[in-house]
Amino acid sequence: MAETDLARDDEFELTEEQKLLKESLLDWGERELPLSRVIEMNQEGHPFPEDLVKSLANLGVIMGPVPEEHGGSGLSWEDQAIIADQIGYIDPSIATAAGFMAVETGWGYTLNRYGNETIREKFVKPAINGDQFVGIATTEPGGGSDVAGFESTAERDGDDWILNGEKTFISGTEEAQKMGGAFWVNVRTGPAPEDAPHKNMTSFCVPVDADGMNFQEPYRDAGRMAISTGGFIMEDVRIPDRFRLGEVDKGFYYTMEGFDNARILIGASSVGVTRRILEEAADYIKERETFGNPLAKYEGIQFEFSDLYTRMKALRLMYQQVARMQEKRYEEAGKGERTGSPKTYSATDVARWISMIKWKAPHLAKEAADKAMHWLGAAGYADDYVFETAWKGVMSYCVGAEGGANIQKIVIARETLGPEYVPYK
Ligand SMILES: Cc1cc2nc3c(=O)[nH]c(=O)nc-3n(C[C@H](O)[C@H](O)[C@H](O)COP(=O)(O)OP(=O)(O)OC[C@H]3O[C@@H](n4cnc5c(N)ncnc54)[C@H](O)[C@@H]3O)c2cc1C
Repeated sequence: MAETDLARDDEFELTEEQKLLKESLLDWGERELPLSRVIEMNQEGHPFPEDLVKSLANLGVIMGPVPEEHGGSGLSWEDQAIIADQIGYIDPSIATAAGFMAVETGWGYTLNRYGNETIREKFVKPAINGDQFVGIATTEPGGGSDVAGFESTAERDGDDWILNGEKTFISGTEEAQKMGGAFWVNVRTGPAPEDAPHKNMTSFCVPVDADGMNFQEPYRDAGRMAISTGGFIMEDVRIPDRFRLGEVDKGFYYTMEGFDNARILIGASSVGVTRRILEEAADYIKERETFGNPLAKYEGIQFEFSDLYTRMKALRLMYQQVARMQEKRYEEAGKGERTGSPKTYSATDVARWISMIKWKAPHLAKEAADKAMHWLGAAGYADDYVFETAWKGVMSYCVGAEGGANIQKIVIARETLGPEYVPYK
């Protein structure tokens, strides 16, 4: 296998534009973010190379599906998934702030869709241009999986809202403070009805520099150290009503849409991570000889390689398919703002597929990194190889980020067996 076969994987299925997009990203990666820099940044802990975010933004890949009239590139969801895949290949930690912003496009895109002109001008366009950060803050100390179970509140005060509460395990808190920008924040705007706790939730776009936003020291995570994970306490944060996202009390539905978009891209980027791991490992096992043969000749190793490679290809087709379904939904319902309802696929039609890719793709990448470490022996255990960095990075998406594995399994069962089998009801 030539060194770049996996890098340029599956080109026969892509349009000419998509091939160019992939090539330009690969060139960018080789120039600006070689593997050695990814590893170094993960070892340093929260470095913030502003130039990197800016140069990636210049390619038009941050929030690519935002329509051109709103300052985006008007890309399709399939295009953005291809971008996420390629970012995962370039940065297998999925943690450098630049790569993170392209992969986490789902939230910025959804924020644009439910935000108004003020939000678009003040926060969305600057984030697309790489000048500001847009993040998501749903998780609270009381838990993350139960999105309807949080306690932060907003109370109406004339034309404003007063927000109080705490958000934890939020990606990019340090970067957001350095760059400026905003977080999508969910709060309660009424008590949680016992039979429907997802009701009475409202979403706001909260500026990082709003008075009363008190950021905490970032956590020392096991991995993904090139981007911070932190928290903040909101103490009487006054937010104008024009920073509200969509309708009052409907935040849960917008948040689920944000999760769907984010999960497609996490799935796609994890496929890219697996691709890079297998490529790096293939180079090694073809080169390294034991008992007179290259490691790649031994069935104990090549069969594992084939297994991982096959599952990676299946997941690639899966993210492509689900990205196309999501694109169709937005074509019918309005990509920039809501102009109608999706007709061909409902939200629950796509949710099952999205959960499958969000569950399986990061786990495959983690398994590939683990296997590759075994194939390399002692060399695989050294922290200047990609495998350890990748393993730690994708592990974040296995344990919780964008929803833990069990939550994805619940969605798949709910959409397949029926809602009466949801375990927490
Ligand atoms: C690196 C990193 C970055 C993150 N970035 C962000 C961010 O930017 N914004 C944000 O809002 N959040 C972020 N999160 C938090 C993430 O959303 C939560 O970790 C996730 O929602 C799970 O919540 P929890 O960690 O509180 O786990 P819990 O909800 O306490 O769940 C613990 C475990 O139990 C499982 N579980 C829960 N309920 C059930 C059930 N009914 N049946 C079976 N199993 C169940 C879960 O899958 C999980 O494995 C981040 C997390 C990490 C690790």
